[in-house]
Amino acid sequence: MRQSLVVGNWKMNGSYEANRSLINGIKQNIASVKNSEMAVCPPFVYLSQMKRLLKDTNIGWGAQNVSQQEPGAFTGEIAIGMLVDFDCKYVIVGHSERRSLYGESDELIAEKFATVQAAGLIPILCIGELLEEREAGNTEAVVKRQLDAVLNSQGVASLEKSVIAYEPVWAIGTGKTATPQQAQDVHAFIRGQISALDAKVAEKVQILYGGSVKGSNAKELFAMPDIDGGLIGGASLKADDFLAIGQAG
Ligand code: PEP
Repeated sequence: MRQSLVVGNWKMNGSYEANRSLINGIKQNIASVKNSEMAVCPPFVYLSQMKRLLKDTNIGWGAQNVSQQEPGAFTGEIAIGMLVDFDCKYVIVGHSERRSLYGESDELIAEKFATVQAAGLIPILCIGELLEEREAGNTEAVVKRQLDAVLNSQGVASLEKSVIAYEPVWAIGTGKTATPQQAQDVHAFIRGQISALDAKVAEKVQILYGGSVKGSNAKELFAMPDIDGGLIGGASLKADDFLAIGQAG
């Protein structure tokens, strides 16, 4: 049985005060979440606030990105050691917004994945197709290419200590969720690709679904055999919604 995991991706949202009230709201009712591990990924500058507010809880925290470089002359970048300093457990790599808005390639994302793992943190590798890729019947080819970039450079064993998030780009922030069956089909495909290389790793790796997950649709999605929780954008900014998603795990 894989542990259900629900991770909030706050994107570029939040403020010191808003975060405090959101985290307090989550902490107040976290006992209502019985079966999911919960984690939040705020903007970098709020990681110290998370460390302070969450240190005595079972809620984890992580970052939304990291540099693949060693510390040095890289203005505006964040090195992995800095995320270690703030006790991050997770680092999201390859979110579709990083791929599309900041030109991150499959190869760069594989480097970031390796950087996170080498420091003992858990990468959450995001993969997923654009609407036109789905409509052209290329969903499997796209997620295979994105997954292969990591498999070919890091090997299948690297996935054992990682999380994969399948996020169809057309479902992110659009209110348009993949149907549970659409999501399950791609999750099963991803697990099958891994299984062809190592059945034990495939059985173990958590594959989250992301794309307009809400309290009202999480249960159906998470009931699918290959969906092990969610990566949540908009709905992770409201304590009640985020908790309702956690309760669905
Ligand atoms: C995301 O940003 O990873 C995401 C899934 O966003 P939303 O839940 O808002 O679609």
